[in-house]
Amino acid sequence: MTTAAAYENQATLTYRISFTAGPDLSGTLRRTSGTPVTMSTYYHGLPEPKGRFAGEYRHERDPERQTVNILANAVLERLGCDDDQYLAQVLAQVTGGSIELHSEKGPCHSCRAVLRQFLQDYPMIASCVVTYRKTDKRGHAIRALEPAGGDLCGSYGYEDAVELGGNWRKVLR
Ligand SMILES: [Zn+2]
Repeated sequence: MTTAAAYENQATLTYRISFTAGPDLSGTLRRTSGTPVTMSTYYHGLPEPKGRFAGEYRHERDPERQTVNILANAVLERLGCDDDQYLAQVLAQVTGGSIELHSEKGPCHSCRAVLRQFLQDYPMIASCVVTYRKTDKRGHAIRALEPAGGDLCGSYGYEDAVELGGNWRKVLR
């Protein structure tokens, strides 16, 4: 049993994906860190690299990871296949697209890995921008790369994110 997250993070992923045939897939996904994953999750992210929870997956419910997995499932559904057919020739039917992922907190090491893997699988997605807040709800500054607290390792965000409109912004592609 894990304790409830001290900080509830919310992520919003806006996407448009185009295919070799048929209409684009576009929409907005919203997830909150406290809610469980409700569907198949292809992108698992990374376990804690060291410390008390070394080897454990502590970011299963992170909203960034959830939204990327929900989008991957939507793409597969659009292409009429399931996880077992998650193959290069299926993904090759994706011909373009853009993603914007906004979360309150920057993505952790595990969610950054999920995003990296997703973009590797979808080379034709031309634009992926990650944004997150520069100040928390109490108005305290959040660094571009914020160290994880408690017993968690790693950090949140991207060291070279740039400020834009009160958010941190990192262009992954
Ligand atoms: Zn995460």
